[in-house]
Amino acid sequence: MAETHFAPFQPPSRILLGPGPSGVSARVLSALAAPTIGHLDPQFLKLMDETQQMLRAVFRTGNRLTLAVSGTGSAGMEACVVNLIEPGDRMLVCVNGVFGGRMADVAARAGAVVRKLERPFGEVFSAAEIEAAIAEFKPKVTGIVHAETSTGALQPVPEISRVVHAGGSMLLLDCVTSLAGLPVEIDEWEVDAAYSGTQKCLSCPPGLSPVTFSDRAVAAMDARKTKVASWYLDMSMVRNYWSQQSRAYHHTAPINMNYGLHAALCEVLEEVLPKRFARHLRNHLALRAGVEALGLEYAVAEACRLPVLNAVKIPAGVNDQAVRAQLLGEYGIEIGAGLGPMAGKTWRVGLMGVSSSPTNVLVFLAALESCLNAQGGECRAGAGVAAANASYVASAKS
Ligand SMILES: *Cc1c(COP(=O)(O)O)cnc(C)c1O
Repeated sequence: MAETHFAPFQPPSRILLGPGPSGVSARVLSALAAPTIGHLDPQFLKLMDETQQMLRAVFRTGNRLTLAVSGTGSAGMEACVVNLIEPGDRMLVCVNGVFGGRMADVAARAGAVVRKLERPFGEVFSAAEIEAAIAEFKPKVTGIVHAETSTGALQPVPEISRVVHAGGSMLLLDCVTSLAGLPVEIDEWEVDAAYSGTQKCLSCPPGLSPVTFSDRAVAAMDARKTKVASWYLDMSMVRNYWSQQSRAYHHTAPINMNYGLHAALCEVLEEVLPKRFARHLRNHLALRAGVEALGLEYAVAEACRLPVLNAVKIPAGVNDQAVRAQLLGEYGIEIGAGLGPMAGKTWRVGLMGVSSSPTNVLVFLAALESCLNAQGGECRAGAGVAAANASYVASAKS
């Protein structure tokens, strides 16, 4: 027993530019710190109703079954899979990064017969290859990741949705990193089930996972012959707690996390979605101009590049770990390392939610320049910042 005294944790000041969590506004933080009330208190139930309404607005859906699962984005993934899949059901999972791989693992654990359709990290799928795989495998559910945070690639959805439905399958979409950062159109794209997370572009700490299910998905869940493999994530019970009619106790909702999500959703809708997406794009373009001026290249083709997660190649001779350590230690800036086959080869710079700001872009570029030069680089003084500023001027004109 070496330690005898403990003090409440004091987190250091950080600029969060990694793959999540993203920065959290003062308003959301103070909502989290409000007094805890009961999970069946009428005032809390009112907050739950409003949260559902705001989630529908952000997901762009009329789906009744739209709520926040208690748990991080992975819990939302698991909730969608275990409720749609019964043991022996076929599920096609498109894997072009870590999160597609995780979805395949979750599906196999749920008892699905899983077929993985694979693409190298950083690439995206064509509707034609998914159509062919569905024609052959005839899956009940087809799962795909909209914004692959592990690689920085953005998967176009509308055409894929068409072939999934034409093949008699349901579409499950991972929107963890896309929701509230770039357009997500659940109804227009006819997505059957989708999940997200609070800690990416919603700019709330990790802890809740918004999910939404179409009528077709709900009908499939109602027609199940077996119980959902997970007690905690069983939507037939969770939805009774969220439903105004029953309000049946299932588990105690993480009360203060729900305050936080409610406040974060208010901020998203106050900004108005198209403006929020335009802000994310503007800051991405400025960051891109800046990192390219510092001599870095993107790891993903321009046509499918995610604006909220910039995967850039680490220049030859530069020490990955040393740069990230200096960014964090000297400047308080967190960026992400590469994952899977991209480990050691790329950095992942997130510009999500409140973290997506000109201030962060300019500070990051100035800090990166000094870290690269500390590694023997020869960045021209201020080149990144100048290019980013020029990009902001150009966006203001257009
Ligand atoms: C972060 C992320 C997840 C997992 O979310 P957690 O909050 O870490 O559980 C799943 N899918 C994608 C695309 C993500 O970016």
